[in-house]
Amino acid sequence: SLSEKLDGVFKRLKGHGTLTEKNISDGLREVRLALLEADVHFKVAKQFIADVKERSLGQEVMRSLTPGQQVVKIVNETLTDLMGGAHEALDLSGTHPVPIMLVGLQGSGKTTTAGKLALKLRKEGRKPYLVPADVYRPAAIDQLKKVGAQIDVPVFESRTDMDPVDICRQARVAAHKAGCDTVLLDTAGRLHIDETLMAELQAIREALQPADVLLVADAMTGQDAVNMAKAFDDALHIGGVVLSKMDGDARGGAALSIRSITGKPIKFIGVGEKLADLEAFHPDRMASRILGMGDVLTMIEKAQAVVDTEQAAALEKKLRKNQFTLEDFRDQLVQVRKMGSLTDLIGMIPGMGKHKQMKNLDVDESELVRIEAIINSMTPQERYQYNIINGSRRRRIAKGSGTTVQDVNRLLKNYTQIMKMMKKINKGGMRGLGRGMLP
Ligand code: GDP
Ligand code: MG
Repeated sequence: SLSEKLDGVFKRLKGHGTLTEKNISDGLREVRLALLEADVHFKVAKQFIADVKERSLGQEVMRSLTPGQQVVKIVNETLTDLMGGAHEALDLSGTHPVPIMLVGLQGSGKTTTAGKLALKLRKEGRKPYLVPADVYRPAAIDQLKKVGAQIDVPVFESRTDMDPVDICRQARVAAHKAGCDTVLLDTAGRLHIDETLMAELQAIREALQPADVLLVADAMTGQDAVNMAKAFDDALHIGGVVLSKMDGDARGGAALSIRSITGKPIKFIGVGEKLADLEAFHPDRMASRILGMGDVLTMIEKAQAVVDTEQAAALEKKLRKNQFTLEDFRDQLVQVRKMGSLTDLIGMIPGMGKHKQMKNLDVDESELVRIEAIINSMTPQERYQYNIINGSRRRRIAKGSGTTVQDVNRLLKNYTQIMKMMKKINKGGMRGLGRGMLP
């Protein structure tokens, strides 16, 4: 990967005492190759290296940093600038309901992203409204209806015999009547760009005057995503890009090239198939992630978003008094699951991405589901006094949760170990224990 390649380059630079033109040039040649291998556009890579070189040589070596660290810092800053510097938010200006248009090739992730955005906007206190404007595939309308039902967001009743522009117009009126303030237009896509599609999208844009037009591009397609962004922008003047499928093994090239090739910012990234898997795009955090430093800020934000502080305080109190029940154990697991995939979280911890064992550590999420089911099958009394759970109770719990007695035994063993560990820790500090509690 790009971050592994860069890591090697910087390790070699670390051995040098000062930043000289020679050792910078040698290091940067490898950085350039690493960028090209990551599918970064060659013009972008060339300009990038020139920028880093200029900044490195112009700078005095800071006393607090080794030359290697200093180059990492400069590369990090240059990467950040390359991706636009600061986060650019979704444009929601104008009178309500504000139309937002999603465009892109078939399969790029438009419909999924429409749902993700709706969920995000609703969490921010807005009232989104979803519009299926792809009339060519009946399944597309049903897909968006399902998404809307999942997150409890209204969906316009489009029919395949309607004109897409009429759908969007009528949908805005309907959204207004329904008291919604944001209209998300999920438009049709094709396998390739063609004029008919562009003409249709232009007509919708003309008629609705959306506050923002987002191109959804598949990060896995590398340079094609960049070319797509350019083509859509030329024809339609997009406001920004959503780079989907960043959770796959995308090489990072698209994220790095889009801004400088199109001049348009990446506003969001899709990081999974679930509707919660959308993140605001922050160039500085992405730069750090690419450099393998871990995206600590994103991780902290994710954790803060789900862990209710009051609940955490209550938990801490229970732990102090050794009153941590199986019910609390279950609640903790639910919290951890809300934070997203465990493997994702581990990847965000600085340095963790580099460890082989950590990479191979495939945290089995179905195990968490099983544990939750087991605890749910217990009586309240069992959850508070685990030592009453005898053989026949174990069999009943296993049956009720669709698991085996071995599963129940394993859970109880883990739980008792945690209890033991806590008794020890209770003598020392307590904060942040919740996350270290997994079996
Ligand atoms: P559309 O044709 O542009 O509307 O694309 P869809 O929204 O139907 O998505 C196509 C496929 O990509 C679906 O299987 C989605 O689940 C998947 N998908 C969309 N966004 C993401 C993402 O961020 N990560 C992953 N892993 N899959 C995604
Ligand atoms: Mg679709």
